[in-house]
Amino acid sequence: MEDCIFCKIVKGELPCFKVYEDERVLAFEDINPISKGHTLIIPKNHAENLWQISPDDLTAIHLASKKVATAIKQALNPLGVATLQLNGKGVNQLVMHYHLHLVPRSDDEPELSITAWELEQGDMEAIRATGEKISAALV
Ligand code: AMP
Ligand code: ZN
Repeated sequence: MEDCIFCKIVKGELPCFKVYEDERVLAFEDINPISKGHTLIIPKNHAENLWQISPDDLTAIHLASKKVATAIKQALNPLGVATLQLNGKGVNQLVMHYHLHLVPRSDDEPELSITAWELEQGDMEAIRATGEKISAALV
């Protein structure tokens, strides 16, 4: 896609700090890292989000995430690694080319805000009704 920065990275028109590549995916360091080792994994084929990405590319992303997360564990020995993937401007997706975030937390780093939500028990009737609505929409 013409104006997509991640497509430009795939084509070599913009630089990146590459950590992994195979025929379908590319993984590189996020240049505004939430933590040390914050890495993005993207499909080489442009797809905006989870609704658009092909099953084969999605599979490749997740197989690559295991490889890269294993390398992060080996290289940085983090306390843990969070994975995160945003779909839509309404949830703050900024780059409209599918990307999976791998966000490690090392022992000298504060708790990650993306993993620190408070648990508060919900309304069981509302949860049941919403679950049924989603389930009924599955094809
Ligand atoms: P989001 O779309 O909100 O899931 O996040 C987009 C992510 O892409 C942010 O964490 C940015 O720091 C990151 N980002 C944007 N441009 C680049 C770039 N040229 N190289 C590496 N990371 C980038
Ligand atoms: Zn793109």
